[in-house]
Amino acid sequence: MAETIFSKIIRKEIPADIVFESDTVLAFRDISPQAPIHIIIIPKQPIAYTTEIDGKKDASLLGDLFDAANLIAKEQGIDKTGFRIVINNGINAGQEVPHLHLHLLGGRKLSWPPG
Ligand code: 5GP
Repeated sequence: MAETIFSKIIRKEIPADIVFESDTVLAFRDISPQAPIHIIIIPKQPIAYTTEIDGKKDASLLGDLFDAANLIAKEQGIDKTGFRIVINNGINAGQEVPHLHLHLLGGRKLSWPPG
């Protein structure tokens, strides 16, 4: 996978407001938040796009990502009010950083459908 800004955040070469870290997952506040709570949750292993995910091989990692999202939502106090998890994949979805990531958004009423 190509080097991205998230690779540098994983290696702690550039600062980020990290809210969760495990052996497999890192989560930090988005630099340009679109909601009062906007956290980026990434696998530490190099997966650029959802199309690279092998459901069986990566099942444990996917579980880790969603476990982290639920834990963070609870810690941030948005588990009861609700939140949105978004994965932008590829050009038409506006994915800017080619390193798989979940956006965890909450803290306000979110409109639907997204743009
Ligand atoms: P994408 O558009 O790829 O789904 O989302 C990438 C997200 O990463 C954007 O919401 C953007 O604000 C965030 N982002 C990009 N560069 C940085 C950075 O250096 N630090 C942090 N904390 N977030 C970043």
